[in-house]
Amino acid sequence: MNQDPLPPLREVIATHGLAARKSLGQNFLLDLNLTGKIARRAGDLTKCDVLEIGPGPGGLTRALLDEGARKVVAIEMDDRCLPALQEITDAYDGRLITLSGDALKIDPRSHLNGPVRVVANLPYNVGTELLIRWLTPAEWPPYWQSLTLMFQKEVAQRITAQPGSKAYGRLSILSQWRADPKMAFEIPASAFTPPPKVTSAVVHFERLETPRFAANQKILNEVVARAFNQRRKMMRASLKGMLPDMETHLIAAGIDPKQRAEQVSLQQFCALSEILRVQRGQKPIR
Ligand code: SAM
Repeated sequence: MNQDPLPPLREVIATHGLAARKSLGQNFLLDLNLTGKIARRAGDLTKCDVLEIGPGPGGLTRALLDEGARKVVAIEMDDRCLPALQEITDAYDGRLITLSGDALKIDPRSHLNGPVRVVANLPYNVGTELLIRWLTPAEWPPYWQSLTLMFQKEVAQRITAQPGSKAYGRLSILSQWRADPKMAFEIPASAFTPPPKVTSAVVHFERLETPRFAANQKILNEVVARAFNQRRKMMRASLKGMLPDMETHLIAAGIDPKQRAEQVSLQQFCALSEILRVQRGQKPIR
């Protein structure tokens, strides 16, 4: 249970006039049991810096500090929240640093020392974009060790989906290629103020030090994008024209040319992208 001397979150919101703004994806979590549960799912924070996106009035932020995070660096776009966040910085001996602005434009790395864990109740309008950026840096392994993130339940299902399911697609491949994403728990709409229209779910990703299977990121993205853009078509049709003799390459990758994208495993997509890389005379990823 949260031990800090700060007022309850409802009081913080009233004092600082933080009426939720839909345009900023503001659905606040005011239940300290839940914010504590998310913070604990991120793992042992005591030897880590934590990056939080969108602290808002600071419920999850307080839980992260209470769980012993060495430091929390939080990026918040809504300046109305800054005085409330300053009170948290004061109550926790300066362990919270707030960066004011858009998380899509700010690079927080100069404020962070590894290991870094990212924890956020993400604004839904930028959540998927941020996830894609965290999963596709120029160099792997990335600066972060783990991501513990809230999404709409449908997005969480796409991230963790396996072949054969309707939710399986580009986001599943991207998420599972270089990380191990696990559905942690669901959070009902009623837990938020104001309640959103959808159920939410927390996903925890531990990064893999090296990708699960060798592949060139650009080629893998290209193959997967083509395959899932026409997910009802057979692979031989959706990838037609990428290279001469596509059927032979599909078979060499262990893929039946009549299979549809949603039946093709991550390992098979990686094998196919490696074959294409060699055919095109490109170098392996580094
Ligand atoms: N962490 C708080 C909680 O759990 O109650 C608030 C979560 S609320 C879903 C999303 C927060 O992200 C809001 O505080 C909103 O102002 C902020 N936000 C929205 N878009 C942002 C962006 N592009 N960069 C940084 N923060 C953003």
